[in-house]
Amino acid sequence: IVKVDQIYKSFGANQVLKGVSFEVARGEMIAIIGASGSGKSTALRCIDRLETIDSGHIEVAGIRVDDPDVDLHKLRREVGIVFQSYNLFPHLTVLENVMLALRHVKMQSKGEAQKVALAALAQVGLDEKAGAYPEQLSGGQQQRVAIARSLAMAPKVMLFDEVTSALDPQLTGEVLRVMEDLAAGGMTMILVTHEMNFAKRVADRIIYMHQGRVWEVGPGEMLDNPHTPELQAFLAADL
Ligand code: ATP
Ligand code: MG
Repeated sequence: IVKVDQIYKSFGANQVLKGVSFEVARGEMIAIIGASGSGKSTALRCIDRLETIDSGHIEVAGIRVDDPDVDLHKLRREVGIVFQSYNLFPHLTVLENVMLALRHVKMQSKGEAQKVALAALAQVGLDEKAGAYPEQLSGGQQQRVAIARSLAMAPKVMLFDEVTSALDPQLTGEVLRVMEDLAAGGMTMILVTHEMNFAKRVADRIIYMHQGRVWEVGPGEMLDNPHTPELQAFLAADL
């Protein structure tokens, strides 16, 4: 459902992606790991066309992302992306935050959007907080609202960029559980993460990026038996 083929991307003289290729099948969960600056976020952002690529091809759910005339609205309906910062509107309730795009992008009626938003909030265990304002929630709960907001749009693929890095361990756990449930429910997911144990346990495959390249790919066990000295060093530094 996701095909990334030999993508290159530079920011000025800084070549950040140097021929990155990978594929993700429907229902798969892929974890991307790697050192700071290895190009993980850039690769993810290219998939949702938040960055354009210099060369190569990207296809998501049948949409040619590198086509200059790509329908961005259509792409963004099919691909949900969640970042480390939740970017909720502080003056809107949890329910209103989740309803916003349903009303204005999907043009749903108020009743319909409310129903869909509540279902998405239930999926992340927060339907009881529908009437609360973001500042009344913990960081983990706010992040789960951000996930619900994305889920409510019924994307075919969800991208997560270090969604737990700003959270303390307990709150991290509740967000990881939501992602694990999503994976178990068959959602296609690509997540950039520093949570090695989670990646190992839950991901179907792990992609290790190093200096703008896919350096190693494999199932979770690959982390117990790294082939390259770079992955060995990366894992050792993470302990
Ligand atoms: P981290 O683990 O720190 O999030 P990362 O693997 O996600 O790192 P990227 O954010 O993809 O790394 O950045 C890769 C390189 O691209 C870095 O050298 C970064 O400075 C550069 N870069 C990223 N975004 C931009 C931008 N918008 N403009 C210029 N340079 C950028
Ligand atoms: Mg990053």
